[in-house]
Amino acid sequence: MGVRQTGGLGIAMILQGGLGGVGALTPQRRKREHRPLGLAAPLRLEQPVFGAHPRATGLLLTNPAELPRPVRSGLPFADHLECEIIGAKLVFPRSVMDQGLKELMLLARIFGPISDEKGEYPYARKAWSGQTRVWEMALHRYLKARDLMFGPGEAFSAYVAKVRAELDSTKGLRDTVEPPLHDEGNKKAPSRARREPDWKEAQDVFYAWVRRPMEELVGSDVDIGALIMRGVTARLKAALAQVEASYGRFSYGSINPRPKKKDGFGYRLGSLSDHALGNAIDINARQNPQVNPERWAHIVKYVNLPMTKAARASTWKTKPKSLYDYIHQVSDAFAKKLREAVEKAAKGPPHLDEHKALAAVVKHDSHLSGIGLEFTGKYHKGFFNLPWDLVHELHQAKFVWGATFDTVDLHHFDFGSGGSP
Ligand SMILES: [Zn+2]
Repeated sequence: MGVRQTGGLGIAMILQGGLGGVGALTPQRRKREHRPLGLAAPLRLEQPVFGAHPRATGLLLTNPAELPRPVRSGLPFADHLECEIIGAKLVFPRSVMDQGLKELMLLARIFGPISDEKGEYPYARKAWSGQTRVWEMALHRYLKARDLMFGPGEAFSAYVAKVRAELDSTKGLRDTVEPPLHDEGNKKAPSRARREPDWKEAQDVFYAWVRRPMEELVGSDVDIGALIMRGVTARLKAALAQVEASYGRFSYGSINPRPKKKDGFGYRLGSLSDHALGNAIDINARQNPQVNPERWAHIVKYVNLPMTKAARASTWKTKPKSLYDYIHQVSDAFAKKLREAVEKAAKGPPHLDEHKALAAVVKHDSHLSGIGLEFTGKYHKGFFNLPWDLVHELHQAKFVWGATFDTVDLHHFDFGSGGSP
């Protein structure tokens, strides 16, 4: 293992293999073997570190005091931050790496975890290092993807400058693009992200990553800022008018120029959500969550109500009420079984308060553990409350429901792109 201090950002480069030749660390192995790096006797490298050393696999920021200020502030676990950057090869000049690292950290701080287009490789994600929550960064992957999307060299910064001008000159555009104006359920104050002094800088980068794929879709001669401000597509507008004519007004979120998301992987940079195209709506996302496939599998096993993804999709087509009833049943059964278990655990002995009882129940049930304490606590009364009349009208208007997706997205309705929540 080799470590070299490069000053400035306090970056140390980790060489795997080193003199001992450890061999490639898979993500799993890396997780298990993760320890504060820099502890092993360092193999000092000669300049230049940022050439393409064949065994170089990553970078590590070990000293929080040396991190650029914006990286440290605002993170919920900011008092100790260690940041490992995993990559296959060091092929970028030092200046690009430094700038890219700041950019990636800024994105992570304002927008949370981010990953590649398909949601297979994280660029920035939260991880554990011993007892410490850290951001793990795959800087090289990010920079490579960025080069592919925008072109090498100065192309990306030129594009960001262009979109910054668009954001500043198009009325309402900054308020339409995330980070959201308000945190969920609190319309009075700006969102936590928007209280950060450099949120606009992060938004510029985020918007660049959304605007480019939009441009590929609609053509670079189209005024994309204006397109976004026009809101929903004609098709969605017509469908919503149809639904509201029968059901009455209802509230929904529609246009949102953002990439697709993946639970745990956050935004998939380079992809484009149906919401970005004004072709999808979300209804009461707070109480009708998106549930990733693993978690959904645990939920249906916990309540013993299996249904395959294919069956969900075909049921929606032919018997939408059956799918609606099924989802309701799963949610109700989950709440009931959980409540009974928590009540039993609370009675003891030992007598436990509701919080502790819930934690104990989750801990001792493999499916609930798979679902996780956070989700279980948040949705212990159920995770679905859309009215059938509304879902029925949406079906009539030819919407595809996110409940048919691999990632079960209970609040999402679109026009059948196959699921790009
Ligand atoms: Zn959605």
